[in-house]
Amino acid sequence: MNIPKHPTLIRRSLLARQKELQAKSPVLAASLVTIRRACGNPNCRCARGQKHLGHYLTWKLKTKTQTAYVPVDLVPQVKQWTQEHRRLKQLVREITQLSLALIQTHVTAKRHKRARS
Ligand SMILES: [Zn+2]
Repeated sequence: MNIPKHPTLIRRSLLARQKELQAKSPVLAASLVTIRRACGNPNCRCARGQKHLGHYLTWKLKTKTQTAYVPVDLVPQVKQWTQEHRRLKQLVREITQLSLALIQTHVTAKRHKRARS
């Protein structure tokens, strides 16, 4: 992202992103992963190496990684919800940079004013 120099332009960029900062779906701060695993039934094909494919969500709670099973018919939706989290996270990152830039231009402007008078 290019951060504009002028406060007016910074505010304009900020405003555009503030408007985007609205969840368009449920939001999931987790990753969707595909895991091969055995179900535990010794007579199942998975016991002979053909493991089952399953979709799971993983996320960190403090230091522990949590997982949740995702039924296959929900996978497209859940994927979208994790993408929505990524989109919002990126927006917050950019809004932070622009907000900091705004503070910095304010400091610079004050310094210039003081130098002139
Ligand atoms: Zn099995």
